[in-house]
Amino acid sequence: MHNKRIYLSLPKQSGSEQKYIKNAFETNWITSGGPNVEEFEHKLEKYFEEKSFVTALNSGTSAIHLALILLGVKAGDEVICQSMTFSASANPILYQGAVPVFVDSESDTWNICPQFLEIAIQDRIKRGKKPKAIITVHLYGNPYKVEEVHAVANKYDIPVIEDSAEALGSSFKGQKCGTFGSLGILSFNGNKIITTSSGGALISNSVAVKNRALFFATQAKDKAVHYQHSEIGYNYRMSNVCAGIGLGQMEILHKNIEARRETNAFYKELFRNIDEVTVFENLNQDFFSNCWLTTILVEAQNKKNSNRENLRMAFEDANIECRPLWKPMHLQPIFEKHPYYGENTAEELFDKGLCLPSGNLSLENKNRIKEVVLNFFV
Ligand SMILES: *Cc1c(COP(=O)(O)O)cnc(C)c1O
Repeated sequence: MHNKRIYLSLPKQSGSEQKYIKNAFETNWITSGGPNVEEFEHKLEKYFEEKSFVTALNSGTSAIHLALILLGVKAGDEVICQSMTFSASANPILYQGAVPVFVDSESDTWNICPQFLEIAIQDRIKRGKKPKAIITVHLYGNPYKVEEVHAVANKYDIPVIEDSAEALGSSFKGQKCGTFGSLGILSFNGNKIITTSSGGALISNSVAVKNRALFFATQAKDKAVHYQHSEIGYNYRMSNVCAGIGLGQMEILHKNIEARRETNAFYKELFRNIDEVTVFENLNQDFFSNCWLTTILVEAQNKKNSNRENLRMAFEDANIECRPLWKPMHLQPIFEKHPYYGENTAEELFDKGLCLPSGNLSLENKNRIKEVVLNFFV
């Protein structure tokens, strides 16, 4: 039996990516920046409707790094970050020599807890340093409590960097994720809802910020005929070839969201009568998710040792890729010495949680997944 592997999240092609790439080659724009990049930015700006300005970059990680630079985060400054996230949300804080301060999740959105956020801010101020920025995350495409979280940030006048890497196409009360923070970031890595093979973007609300981001992303060149530099520059611009992939991908963004939401509905039905498993569900209609990844919690019950890890291994035996939820940053060896505010919500989610294959599932693949689940629980 050699079943083909079912992956967690694979790219899907529209078929027109090659057309834009071919154009880049025919016009010899095999460069960083160029017409495809500008068109891709324009498409994204139109997609976000609200007054949004987009700078296309070579990764989501570089977008977060530039966001910190644009907000003036320097060595020794403190930056609050949701603990339950992928490491790329927090690593750029260290690139700047700043100090990450991690905050727990809440159990209903799995995202940053507004109460612990406020406790963290108050305590850091009491200890002598007001945090310079807050990095929030819409984990797995599920919006955080935008109103509560931003009310706290506004109360203390701290800018928010909205990590929307997993949430392109998600929205809260009809407003698209990525547009709530002082700055928003996107990722077009190969596993995200659309891809440029590798890429990211910074979303801001003024052309001045967009141009400032562009300046830093293209080596911080001063106005001069020779190469002249007064500030540290970075090589973070998106490649014109990669932007061609992005233009092709934009044509199917809505289809990818539909497909992932359909996959999510399949899992909800599959687990409906299995008491040990709860499929993550958003609080109410205000929270619209792109369902980038469908996630579940597995309660260990006596029967057959039905815990998360055993279920993951049962999937693995059938050559189906699943992954535990992201391990919280405050539990990571590289970050564990930094301050943390919260209880053990994120930790508990990590212990019980599993991400399931969430791309476009064929009927055959759905049946393979169903078989593993029914054999395991029933
Ligand atoms: C993927 C991801 C990033 C980083 O994006 P890259 O384009 O891979 O650099 C940042 N934050 C979160 C939450 C992500 O999932």
